[in-house]
Amino acid sequence: MSETDTPTIGHWIDGAPRASTSGRTAPVFHPATGEKQAEVALADQAEIDEALRSAQRGFETWSALSIAKRQAVIFAFRELLNARKGELADIITREHGKVRSDAMGEILRGQEVVELATGFPHLLKGAFSESVSTGIDVYSIKQPLGVVGIISPFNFPAMVPMWFFPIAIAAGNAVVLKPSEKDPSAALWLAELWKEAGLPDGVFTVLQGDKLAVDGLLTDPVVQSISFVGSTPIAQYIYETASTHGKRVQALGGAKNHMLVLPDADLDLVADQAINAGYGAAGERCMAISVVLAVEPVADELIRKIVARIEKLRIGDGASTPEPDMGPLITREHREKVSGYVDIAERDGATIVVDGRDFQVPGGEGGFFFGPTLIDRVPTDSRAYTEEIFGPVLEVVRVAGYEEGVALINSGAFGNGTAIFTNDGGAARRFQNEVQVGMIGINVPIPVPVAYHSFGGWKQSLFGDAKAYGVHGFDFFTREKAITSRWLDPATHGGIDLGFPQND
Ligand code: NAD
Repeated sequence: MSETDTPTIGHWIDGAPRASTSGRTAPVFHPATGEKQAEVALADQAEIDEALRSAQRGFETWSALSIAKRQAVIFAFRELLNARKGELADIITREHGKVRSDAMGEILRGQEVVELATGFPHLLKGAFSESVSTGIDVYSIKQPLGVVGIISPFNFPAMVPMWFFPIAIAAGNAVVLKPSEKDPSAALWLAELWKEAGLPDGVFTVLQGDKLAVDGLLTDPVVQSISFVGSTPIAQYIYETASTHGKRVQALGGAKNHMLVLPDADLDLVADQAINAGYGAAGERCMAISVVLAVEPVADELIRKIVARIEKLRIGDGASTPEPDMGPLITREHREKVSGYVDIAERDGATIVVDGRDFQVPGGEGGFFFGPTLIDRVPTDSRAYTEEIFGPVLEVVRVAGYEEGVALINSGAFGNGTAIFTNDGGAARRFQNEVQVGMIGINVPIPVPVAYHSFGGWKQSLFGDAKAYGVHGFDFFTREKAITSRWLDPATHGGIDLGFPQND
């Protein structure tokens, strides 16, 4: 495709596609070939305003509908998604590059939240206390916030928005989603599906854009809350800016997840899981394992087992048949960043056991491929250890015992996920109590909680108090009112009383 006939991906406003007139765009690449496949519109202020006014109208319509009518739409959305998710997986693979089964995996994890949201009437029930005082009852109701903003990262273009919008919409809010500019089409497909499911116009809006669109959501008084997922510096900016503008904020940031391997662990299981969790989705997962903490004497044997498995990995275009194990990275720039971290590790004295820096896929030379990389003896003061790499790079740090491993995990800036591999239940129990991390796996490498629990890390992996989905999600997307009511009994009404209300 030539530069001139490259399509431009636009917004979804007021229940319909909306071409942008901003004149600003960003390129969308095909990561497996390196070619530009489209441009995505970057909203200007007029488009931001139009999207937010439409969302406000959508909120007024939607929040006035009965629970039964709203529930019918959520069920219809779930059925359509379930029937047609293959189309969405194709879109994700084309723009993100992850292999198709992995794209399907992220959709299924998002669908779980849609399924949780179908049961929203139960989760939005208030509480009632009868006769708290003579003739007085107290009850609470949960109401939607209004227009809510969701800002998502490139690595899960369907699942991350679905962590939030099913619950937000079920609770009666209107959503404005600002997807990543790198893979913007999944959001539009989801918007069309909502329309087909019967969602009123304006309740689900897609605003394509960059910092200008994000800042519009963070500062406009129409927007009541922000749900953000992305890198830590931006998460912190989002949290600070949106809070200053009086909004409720949950901002999920980056990660550096460790796997602690005790000497009694089954090393074949550990090697399999390290491969899955380190190289799946080319390491572009916030719950990927980046560091294997090998309690000696297991490191040499474990490294041998991991290398044997790396040699069997097939890397290629995520859409090709037979399906490879791992696709490319998202952009050339990101590939260079990942490569730069391997350079840093090497300079700081680490041993590069398997080097993916010059990796080439035959026929895919222009693609953003990076080979699976294994680094041993990474110094813990190296930036390659302390910072998030977000690529197919597994680092091994050798530790003398459990205590040293836990101390390292707890000394890091992030606290998203971690895992322990052991057959010792007592050690695992101690680990779950002692690590300063939000999501913990015991012989499970990527412990992403199911939809009825909540997802979120500690420390610099989450700014704000509410995690994503589960009960936290319903609390985040509603505001509670407590009502104290007295209906006078005509037989006992005793006249005027100016005293402070007392519990008699
Ligand atoms: P990113 O922070 O670059 O971008 C995330 C979103 O913020 C995008 O929509 C982007 O347009 C917007 N953005 C980028 N720069 C901005 C700026 N200066 N001002 C305002 N908005 C801006 O993240 P990414 O590269 O798309 O995604 C990868 C990151 O996301 C990794 O750090 C990963 O760990 C993290 N992540 C975290 C979780 C989690 O649950 N904690 C889940 C997925 C991804």
